[in-house]
Amino acid sequence: MTLLFLDGRWQPAGGRATREILSPHDGRVVAEVAEATAEDAVVAITAARRAFDTGTWRHTPAPERARAIAAIGQLVAEHREDLAHLETLDTGKPIAESRVDMDDIAAVFAYFAGLAGNEAGRVVAAPSPGVVSRVQREPVGVCSLITPWNYPLLQAAWKLAPALAAGNTVVLKPSELTPLTTHRLVELIDTQLDLPPGVLNLVLGAGPVVGEPLTTHPDVDLVSFTGGVATGSAIMAKAAATIKRVALELGGKNPNLVFADVDLDLAADHALTAAYLHAGQVCSAGSRLLVDASIHDDLVERIVARLPEITLGDGFVEGVRCGPLISPEHRAKVEGYIAGAIDDGASLVAGGRRPDDPSLAHGTYLLPTLFTDVDPSMTIVREEVFGPVLTVEAFRTEAEAVALANDTVYGLAGAVWTNDAGRAERVAGALRCGTVWINDFHPYFPQAEWGGFKRSGIGRELGIAGYDEYTELKHVHHTLRPAVSGWLPTG
Ligand code: NAD
Repeated sequence: MTLLFLDGRWQPAGGRATREILSPHDGRVVAEVAEATAEDAVVAITAARRAFDTGTWRHTPAPERARAIAAIGQLVAEHREDLAHLETLDTGKPIAESRVDMDDIAAVFAYFAGLAGNEAGRVVAAPSPGVVSRVQREPVGVCSLITPWNYPLLQAAWKLAPALAAGNTVVLKPSELTPLTTHRLVELIDTQLDLPPGVLNLVLGAGPVVGEPLTTHPDVDLVSFTGGVATGSAIMAKAAATIKRVALELGGKNPNLVFADVDLDLAADHALTAAYLHAGQVCSAGSRLLVDASIHDDLVERIVARLPEITLGDGFVEGVRCGPLISPEHRAKVEGYIAGAIDDGASLVAGGRRPDDPSLAHGTYLLPTLFTDVDPSMTIVREEVFGPVLTVEAFRTEAEAVALANDTVYGLAGAVWTNDAGRAERVAGALRCGTVWINDFHPYFPQAEWGGFKRSGIGRELGIAGYDEYTELKHVHHTLRPAVSGWLPTG
């Protein structure tokens, strides 16, 4: 059974409770893990507080911290196959995608190791020659890192690498649905590296239970959360009482705009990846396809023609392109959205139901689904479905395309397809979201910041801003020849 990692020791949960982890492919139990109590989370927070305050990690020279972060990246690379296997077991995603995740994770640790070793603050121009003034970055303190189930270890890495690189101590809490890779990485770090006790703590358990102290305890300085908007909003409210720093990576309802001058086969190919990769359980999924009216029918036809290529099935089987949804509850929610769209008058062009294949009957599968004849007032267009569901809307002008794209409370990502460079730049500038792809969809890498406008979040992960998120700025003003202040009369 997997345990909690508290203050440098592996321990069962205080209440001895456990949770079964189920395969979304066939519903079988793949692991039994400790289910932490709120008290366990407090033990983790207290350990992280003590480790931060005694300073062993934050006063470790930055190049040494950088070497440790780089070593974690190397561990991920060395154990790529084992970690990818666990990720597929837990999430159901195709093993090839899990391997790509592991490569990305190794790159994230390598990138933040580089930043940790380079950052030394800056000397600033002082108001008089007798002053040396510098602005330096220091770690924030104890960080609660709370991650979702769709990219379990990747999302953990985006937080863990910069937080540790900057000298913070952390309590890591993966989704209760998908804890296996995060647990394995902490095991590898524990056996292969010499981090001081309390620097890295792991609690496993239900969000509302262990999440309570992680977001309210006065010893926590920062909460970095990736997940749904409702949870993010609740966390922000809870963190407000003690003025914690809050970083939120939330949902999206991402537009994919296709103008009439593009290669339609290419645009269709990317529209499929945008919408259906990982069964649409991607925060940046291109779930709203906005198409020039003159090519609408043609593009839809080309997309529908290729849907049978999305082979559903066991992520360990060669050639499978798409796994199941994460849980029966989540599939029921997606099916509710599909039923609602039909009730609202949208035209169901493809999918909308479970696959017939009896070998998938025990898994939480759903066919790739496509709706046309939707309008911006419909729930299916407005809310994040987080499943394999694409809606298609037509536009007539560039202005209308931009207006439709921005008509959402979200602002995570979006794409524009056109061969007109001026139009591409105009539209990229007008889209209210944190990432814009021109003639592409989905790529990201550690050097470029990731995050949302509007309700898609606060703050950034990756890039320099993703490191700075885990630091406080301190101005150190040094008067070289101290003299009387002059405020009170002298003599
Ligand atoms: P979720 O909000 O249900 O849960 C996310 C995490 O928060 C889990 O670890 C959960 O246990 C924890 N949690 C739940 N309630 C909590 C509480 N009251 N206090 C503290 N923690 C709590 O989200 P999910 O269903 O796991 O993930 C799907 C969502 O994540 C989608 O909306 C998706 O768009 C979003 N997401 C965003 C990004 C991004 O980069 N912006 C990346 C991946 C996923």
